[in-house]
Amino acid sequence: MFDFLIVGAGFAGSVLAERLARVENKKVLLLDKRNHIGGNAYDYFNEAGILIHKYGPHIFHTNCKEIFNYLSQFTEWRNYQHRVLACVDGQQVPIPINLTTINSLYGLNLSSAALEEFFASKAEVINHARTSEDVVVKAIGRELYEKFFKGYTRKQWDLDPSELDASVAARVPTRTNKDDRYFTDTYQAMPLNGYTKMFEKMLDHPNIKIMLNVDYNEIINEIKYEKMIFTGPVDEYFNYCYGKLPYRSLRFKFETLDQEKYQNTGTINYPNDYAFTRITEFKYLTGQTHSKTSIVYEFPTAEGDPYYPIPRPDNTMLYKRYEALANQTDTYFVGRLATYKYYNMDQVVAQALSTFNKIQSENTFQSLYNEREINSH
Ligand SMILES: Cc1cc2nc3c(=O)[nH]c(=O)nc-3n(C[C@H](O)[C@H](O)[C@H](O)COP(=O)(O)OP(=O)(O)OC[C@H]3O[C@@H](n4cnc5c(N)ncnc54)[C@H](O)[C@@H]3O)c2cc1C
Repeated sequence: MFDFLIVGAGFAGSVLAERLARVENKKVLLLDKRNHIGGNAYDYFNEAGILIHKYGPHIFHTNCKEIFNYLSQFTEWRNYQHRVLACVDGQQVPIPINLTTINSLYGLNLSSAALEEFFASKAEVINHARTSEDVVVKAIGRELYEKFFKGYTRKQWDLDPSELDASVAARVPTRTNKDDRYFTDTYQAMPLNGYTKMFEKMLDHPNIKIMLNVDYNEIINEIKYEKMIFTGPVDEYFNYCYGKLPYRSLRFKFETLDQEKYQNTGTINYPNDYAFTRITEFKYLTGQTHSKTSIVYEFPTAEGDPYYPIPRPDNTMLYKRYEALANQTDTYFVGRLATYKYYNMDQVVAQALSTFNKIQSENTFQSLYNEREINSH
């Protein structure tokens, strides 16, 4: 008999398995329908011996010291600041848009103060920024919006930015200085030996049993357990009773090239041409030295593994209906798919740790209650 059956061995499931086993001494069965642990953060050495990310480039960044310290128990880190260039008007310029971007693109020599004025002169007056298009056009005007955001967003989501929640564009800020880092978080690092090694260490505990290549539906009636933690898609859990929650997927095309270096930075975005959105060269992320190099192209698709919940008001409403059902069960729903949120890895770790705290306090309450019951008899 297991205390917990955890469906999904990504960040959400693995953090909970680790905490429940190590801190609460619970017996956990962690299962995944894929043939590996780590969920979408899984990495492995390809045939050429280059460490690659199977589900697209994953860069760890957080402002939360507790989360960084928590993960540091399972890995050493390699400092890494991700930098991205966008291929626009035949040039490769920094994204998020910064002083260098504008000066290179328009052949100018603006100062930061002058760039603020430049943005202000281009910005459109929009009182209530509701959509992604509104947010960008309000900040930097239509021309830059069309050069950098419109095409990329259309490819990524198959929707016009005017149809997407404001929150999507809020993820890509603009800067008036020369800071060309993609993220500005306090902690930016990659697990020194990769994500999979970090997960292996996290899950290395006698109380944790792992089953791979198993959809939970296949074995749910065969296994005895007290409580379930579900980190797969919430609509799947309820047999799509209200219909499918829409997701955006990706097709990855990997290439290994017989050359040491392919491009000038970790990721290059292609907002306007080609069917792919970006190309990432893994060796920048991992710091590996190798005479060859591996890259990945990302082609957004409608079909395939569920990767990105599509942030639109009607999808949020549909999710709320599933959430109401979820609240009526005693299963815990955690992670990107189970809560239909566009979360980064650190946010999923935070959500898992707070679920763990909740489980702990429920257990304390239950033991106090049981003690009182025993004493009163
Ligand atoms: C292309 C891409 C790039 C990203 N880049 C970054 C980044 O740079 N930085 C960052 O912080 N975040 C990034 N993310 C987000 C990151 O992947 C997620 O935040 C994180 O992996 C979510 O963890 P999770 O455990 O919630 O879900 P997942 O990692 O998706 O794990 C869920 C697991 O549940 C399993 N499962 C589902 N249904 C079943 C079932 N029926 N039976 C058994 N198992 C099941 C799945 O196989 C999966 O392994 C990126 C995401 C994508 C798609």
